[in-house]
Amino acid sequence: MENFKTLEQLQAVYNHSFGKNDLIYTAGTGSGKSLVFMMGAVLHPTKTTVLVVPLIPLKQQMIERLKADNILVSDWTGTAPNANPQILVVSVEATGTVAFDSYLATLYQKEKLLRVVIDEAHLLVTSEFRPFIKKALQIRKRPFPLTFLTATLPPKLSDEIQTEIHNPNPVIIRGPSDRTNLRYQVKNLSTVKEMKEWTLKKVADSKLLLKSHERIIIYVMTIADGTELARHIQGSVLYYHDLAEKEKNADLWTTGEAQIMICTNAFGCGINYPHVHLVISYGGSNNLLYYAQESGRGGRDGVVTDIILVTTPSYLSRFGNALSEITDYINTNQCRRQHLIRHTDAVIPGPCLLIGELCDNCSIIAG
Ligand SMILES: [Zn+2]
Repeated sequence: MENFKTLEQLQAVYNHSFGKNDLIYTAGTGSGKSLVFMMGAVLHPTKTTVLVVPLIPLKQQMIERLKADNILVSDWTGTAPNANPQILVVSVEATGTVAFDSYLATLYQKEKLLRVVIDEAHLLVTSEFRPFIKKALQIRKRPFPLTFLTATLPPKLSDEIQTEIHNPNPVIIRGPSDRTNLRYQVKNLSTVKEMKEWTLKKVADSKLLLKSHERIIIYVMTIADGTELARHIQGSVLYYHDLAEKEKNADLWTTGEAQIMICTNAFGCGINYPHVHLVISYGGSNNLLYYAQESGRGGRDGVVTDIILVTTPSYLSRFGNALSEITDYINTNQCRRQHLIRHTDAVIPGPCLLIGELCDNCSIIAG
């Protein structure tokens, strides 16, 4: 198991393991949020932590990871496990079932329930997952404490959580949410043709220098864009929601048989590959929270990583006003890091000049 990375992480472990209040712990992707409930399980081996995960692919990944750390883990399959595990992993959907509710009640009555953890709670603010997570919060019919782990905590999200759990004063611990090695850039070109040509050239140039452990991710807004780019980029694989071979392609990318992933935002949650050294968002992104998630896939190993949004006004206009957050990000002449974090977190970092790699706008300011 990892050592503590920050003081905030240690405080989160303490509050989770020994505190009675609800806890919201926010820390950037790849900063060891899982350690919180893993340590809780180790410190209380006879109690059960219920871990609610919002996405099925995350569930299996998490179970394997916990097993590797010798934690007694069970997968909720619709009926109560034979023996109480240290961690019970359950999908958001399953938390609404009568069988699960009755198991939770038994655990609680026998004083065997440590906590219920809602992982990746920032998904609450993205529309597709909201109904599921709201439903998951209804499991708090009894006064057991909840822990929320989230990559970002915009004020909107913390308000929403506090309302849903009827607790105006949960413990909120903020870890560092920004990674200073990310170099944010925007290429705002004149035509869609230029946008495509620029992307193909950038990827071709980057590919020449790519070491075997390094990867590239290109996020696309539409499946049509993804298919078109994949046609021109050798050594790439595709991933989108209803692609039959998406899991196979994710494996090809992870193992390095294909070093370039072309995908929609569906790819990424729980992807922990550390050496993604170029992230291109092609055309735009749904909103800044999505964009923060996309950019957060880059440079988890600390290596300086270009996070590029390539676009053109005519492309953006296809979406009407739906991408106004992204349009503002594209058009700002201020620090992009600050602009992005302001929308995704209540704590705004200093501009790039003070804390890390320069975004394109800060480069201009710095001369
Ligand atoms: Zn900047």
